[in-house]
Amino acid sequence: MNKALNLKTLDSLAIGAEFVSGLPGDPVTDNYTRQVPSACYSFVNPVAFPKARLIACSEDMLATLGLDPTECGTDLFTQVFSGTRLLSDMRPHACCYGGHQFGHWAGQLGDGRAINLGEVTSADGQHWALQLKGAGPTPYSRSADGLAVLRSSIREFLCSEAMHHLGIPTTRALSLIGTGESVVRDMFYDGHPKREPGAVVCRVAPSFVRFGSFEIFAARKEHDILKQLADFTIARDFPHLGQPGKDTYQAWFREICLRTADLMVHWMRVGFVHGVMNTDNMSITGLTIDYGPYGWLESYDPDWTPNTTDFEGRRYRFGNQPMIALWNLVQLANAIYPLIGETGPLESVLEEYKKHYENGWLDMMRAKLGFATAQPGDEALALDLVGLFRLAETDMTLFFRHLGEVVEAETPEQAMAHLAPAFYGEGPGNDARLAFEQWLGRYQARLQQEHSPDDARLAAMNRVNPLYVLRNYLAQLAIDKSEQGDHSGVHELMEVLKNPYTEQAGKAHLAGKRPDWARTRPGCSMLSCSS
Ligand code: AMP
Ligand code: MG
Repeated sequence: MNKALNLKTLDSLAIGAEFVSGLPGDPVTDNYTRQVPSACYSFVNPVAFPKARLIACSEDMLATLGLDPTECGTDLFTQVFSGTRLLSDMRPHACCYGGHQFGHWAGQLGDGRAINLGEVTSADGQHWALQLKGAGPTPYSRSADGLAVLRSSIREFLCSEAMHHLGIPTTRALSLIGTGESVVRDMFYDGHPKREPGAVVCRVAPSFVRFGSFEIFAARKEHDILKQLADFTIARDFPHLGQPGKDTYQAWFREICLRTADLMVHWMRVGFVHGVMNTDNMSITGLTIDYGPYGWLESYDPDWTPNTTDFEGRRYRFGNQPMIALWNLVQLANAIYPLIGETGPLESVLEEYKKHYENGWLDMMRAKLGFATAQPGDEALALDLVGLFRLAETDMTLFFRHLGEVVEAETPEQAMAHLAPAFYGEGPGNDARLAFEQWLGRYQARLQQEHSPDDARLAAMNRVNPLYVLRNYLAQLAIDKSEQGDHSGVHELMEVLKNPYTEQAGKAHLAGKRPDWARTRPGCSMLSCSS
């Protein structure tokens, strides 16, 4: 213990086991693939990776957990967070859950390659579950190996921390560790399996419980366990809702709906496409969870998805996310219906989700446009802008960032000049240019109703319109280097993405438009579920 700052060493960290002590577990402790009835989790040990090496560590997460910053340099840290060595109070386990995948009930899924180590309470009283992703098979691995490759682990590590620094609810990442062993993957499922470096990410979140965690018990008609898990979740993560009971369950569902709506507004604000919004990838506490084939909009296209596995139906495309979240909430409502026994209250909350999302979207767009007040024409102005993006290939991030530079008193032609860096190719053609200028004229007229100086508006807009996002090609460039043993690209991105709203000297190469070569390169615009 470092007494001065009250920072802890890893071996003095108190590890709790409330999830396993508070909920029914699987009596079978052998680790083989199987259906696990009547249990929230199975005990399972991670595999050992004697050649494991630390690649990156989130200092921010380390500090949140109250760990001394030098701890991540120790052998013990690498051993513990690769799953190679357990601390004495750790009771490693994998959770049972089900889910709807691409619109169809998939039955039992569960932590197929996630192993929970236990919980830590930070100085502010918040509990944090620690979970290793890629530390070996569990009873829920089905036909897969329980491992993770470096490329997907880098993507999860960087993006979860980047989302946190963008102010978006998310699971966190403490560490990224190379296992020193290889994993075989057929990246596009097209008969080209390859050996790739393996890695383990330690994820951290108040809870990893998902919509699918409830769905599995409803599907199995194990209503007693359904209730136990709901009561446990409310007591631990929604304590302000009070004692279990019909009214509390309804208030709980309402809060899940509102948090999910808020999360969708955030994703739409920054141009994040999750890629696999199956109900097993929806957090009960409204966090972004399970970073797989996600992507960031570069040219604004509501129909875009990075996930090649979803190219046909584009179910999880950017513009569909709020609607899919609602569909997923309906599945959750069905699952917890036995706790309430009435559909009316659940239906009215689902209606509220729609309103809450729409209002949240409009407020978010007002903030992106730099409006501190609400005026009647705002919705039309925002929708018309989104429509304009169809006329010219427009980088979403750069457009909003440069929109802040528009001066209220200049001509629309002058205003348009600020936006030049946001357009791909030759920029807008004549008709498109005129349409943008016309819109800018309306926008400037609207700004007059704000009575706010240009520089104050710019500062406010810069607080909601990020300059740096984890562009798909930037992640891929860092991955390419890391696969060759040079992790500097990961470290650079991690540092810059800590302050996504602040322009940083010498980092213009991380704030530019997607280069042309990245348009079609796998990993940059196309990703699969293979990870
Ligand atoms: P996802 O859609 O990636 O969240 O995964 C769906 C399900 O597949 C979850 O139950 C995962 O735990 C499981 N899964 C994905 N990849 C693997 C893997 N390599 N080994 C074992 N299970 C996996
Ligand atoms: Mg998942």
